[in-house]
Amino acid sequence: MRAICLVGIGKIAVDQHVPAIVASPDWMLAATVSRAGAVDGVPAYTDFALMLAERPDIDTVSLCLPPVPRYDYAAAAIAAGRHVMLEKPPGATLAEVQALARMAQDAGVTLYTTWHSRMARGVAPAKAWLADKIVTAAHITWKEDVRRWHPGQDWVFAPGGMGVFDPGSNALSIMTEILPQPVHLRHADLYFPASRDTPIAAELTWTGNVTGSFDWRQTGPQSWDITVDTIDGTLALHDGGARLVIGGKDIESGPDREYPALYDRMAELVKTAASEVDITPMIHVADALTLGKRHMVDPFDF
Ligand code: NAP
Repeated sequence: MRAICLVGIGKIAVDQHVPAIVASPDWMLAATVSRAGAVDGVPAYTDFALMLAERPDIDTVSLCLPPVPRYDYAAAAIAAGRHVMLEKPPGATLAEVQALARMAQDAGVTLYTTWHSRMARGVAPAKAWLADKIVTAAHITWKEDVRRWHPGQDWVFAPGGMGVFDPGSNALSIMTEILPQPVHLRHADLYFPASRDTPIAAELTWTGNVTGSFDWRQTGPQSWDITVDTIDGTLALHDGGARLVIGGKDIESGPDREYPALYDRMAELVKTAASEVDITPMIHVADALTLGKRHMVDPFDF
């Protein structure tokens, strides 16, 4: 078992990372770093530099902070010779993730830009089925309730928080994984709440007749669906990629193993001295923010 430190004990750390690490045969949760959060029975630091200095036994850190503060932690960890696992989206900018990749390579440590939705059950079989298909159209519907998934998290509406593209990047991580040919953005409408710096909703159009509707104002049932039309029939991923339906027939579904699969992958990367750095989903976010037409909508408060 390798010792790992979890940094940023907030919603996703508690909901997913802690249970995945505790259940893993590869990892032992040896410390946490957080200004306010902690995990029962695990040594808790508030100062990241102190943890790095005092705990040479910990060779891997998993960063669950929001994207803006994450870069400084990742750079410090790599400089201290630690392997680094990044929550999605892997940075606030594309260039900073590329900088981290270079630093990790120079330091000879593993860097893993995780995309948890790619580990959803239906994604690998969807990719395999689509590999030799001709896609005629695709549509993403990613509509969820920001108050439920990011309660009180003002950072999502601050510069670098990416707004609806924070969850939207999950859809983009699946899209970029399963489509047999890459697409690029042609048009974007972005809906900004008055006095907020990031969009709460977006309508995107890519080449290849691919479209996406993203909305964070959805109450009631949540919609995380992707449909792909091909000349051989329609493939649909539902529930964020957990359920795969092809030609109207259920092909794959079952309990979520996204975060355990991320920690399995990190263990494999560290063991084989490899890195996995993929910024493709973030490129589409950056393109949308570059190309998008801005529309003002009602103010939003948690
Ligand atoms: P969160 O609870 O708001 O933040 C996580 C922790 O990061 C906080 O508890 C805080 O810990 C620390 N933090 C926040 N701002 C900081 C700053 N400026 N400097 C240092 N530490 C800071 O957010 P989250 O929902 O867990 O999301 C974190 C990441 O996970 C995001 O990239 C998000 O996209 C991803 N994610 C979230 C979800 C979800 O459903 N919420 C799902 C999948 C992935 P302390 O205050 O204790 O230091």
